[in-house]
Amino acid sequence: MQVHVVTDYPLSPGQGLVQFCVENPVAESDPSIFSGKKGRVRMGMSTAGALLEVGMGPRSDLDMDGFREAVSVAVRTAARQEIHTLVVDTAHLNTLELGHRVLQELVITAYLSTYGFTMLKTKSEQDFPQELLLISQDKGLHDQVAHFIAVAQGVALARDLVNMPSNMATPQYLADLALDFGQKYGFGVRVLEAPEIIQEGMGCFAAVFQGSATPAKFIVLDSDPQSSESPLVFIGKGITFDTGGISLKPAANMHEMKGDMAGAAAILGLFQALGLTQNKKQRIVGLLPCTDNMPGRQAIKPGDVVTAMNKTTVEILNTDAEGRLILADALCYSARFKPKAIVDLATLTGACVVALGPKVAAIFSTTATLDQHLRASGSLVGERFWPMPLWKEYAAPLQSEIADLKNIATREGGAIYAALFLKHFVPQGVDWAHLDIAGPAWSNEKVSISHKGATGFGVRTLWEFSMVLDQDEADNLV
Ligand SMILES: [Zn+2]
Repeated sequence: MQVHVVTDYPLSPGQGLVQFCVENPVAESDPSIFSGKKGRVRMGMSTAGALLEVGMGPRSDLDMDGFREAVSVAVRTAARQEIHTLVVDTAHLNTLELGHRVLQELVITAYLSTYGFTMLKTKSEQDFPQELLLISQDKGLHDQVAHFIAVAQGVALARDLVNMPSNMATPQYLADLALDFGQKYGFGVRVLEAPEIIQEGMGCFAAVFQGSATPAKFIVLDSDPQSSESPLVFIGKGITFDTGGISLKPAANMHEMKGDMAGAAAILGLFQALGLTQNKKQRIVGLLPCTDNMPGRQAIKPGDVVTAMNKTTVEILNTDAEGRLILADALCYSARFKPKAIVDLATLTGACVVALGPKVAAIFSTTATLDQHLRASGSLVGERFWPMPLWKEYAAPLQSEIADLKNIATREGGAIYAALFLKHFVPQGVDWAHLDIAGPAWSNEKVSISHKGATGFGVRTLWEFSMVLDQDEADNLV
């Protein structure tokens, strides 16, 4: 979708002026007035072409989530009516009293509502609307809008990578993308191959990739390689396909396991936005351990013991609990950057989806501030995180009889055990948060701005958290 700022109302057919309306009780007695009921749309005519009135429900219930929903309703309606251009007057937006982020949410939501994964279709129909016109006299709006679009493009990239099948979005593909970003945007990029990963002592990561014929990669991205500032380190799980390994998964819906690299995809999406905007507010390092998890002659077997980079010995009782193994070594590796804080994103456990359902991610954090700032960042952009505990009382079941740790404990509380496992590998004294995004990374229904398939969950939270929110605002939000 193209987004342009214009000073005047354009006049041409195929355009639709959008008005977002709160519920109006007068409509009961006057049929000429639109009811404004949530989800309702009324088409009419205006001087700018079609008029789309979109209901948002009672003002007292109106929040940014409701507004985003209304924007996606407007886009879907426009698509059905073959309206190619949506027109929104920014003065109208300001009357909604939704705060200064309303324009950002309009642009990003409209952009992502037209997202479709079409690259593998030999024939695809033209989607409407293809253009959003914003009416404003504010000359500075162009730059702001370009930033919003960059973030939306980051989300769209994350969706593409997750939607792409594993024979295309291989570790090599992700590494090439990172190298391309390095060239285009001046990021520092290093890609470690299998021998170097082994040489670094990442025995847990190596245990996962040794069964796969597709070469593994450990991708290191640095947004500002010249800087001596301590970076925020973001670690993304990059299992490009998860069969479960020798502890093979059931066949039903196994194809969705191409999305087990949604954490890595979200970080690549963030770097896309960083590159497009050249935002240098904060130095960010991204660490992406990427590999398939396959059964095979060389595959790790249940009961095998391996040694992580920090010398912890790990008994692998279930080869399907592989995400925590690759993340463990990435956490150890992050110490060399002397991180300000570490956040990892991973489609880590089915147990997390059982606990919180498909739309909410879990957050496990070693400090209240990191927990609150990440949750505030997420709630500003419609990505929800719910806090889960890292209680010491839960440590015992992870003790192995023959090694330091085992990679699974009991089924009950599985998301917590996974987080507690990771905590063993966090560099001493560094604040850390683990985001289990197994639920919201993928949508099985078409809802609001998410189509069926990958959602790109996490890109926007990381962007708000690292690039937008300043300390004062963050503190006021929690
Ligand atoms: Zn697995």
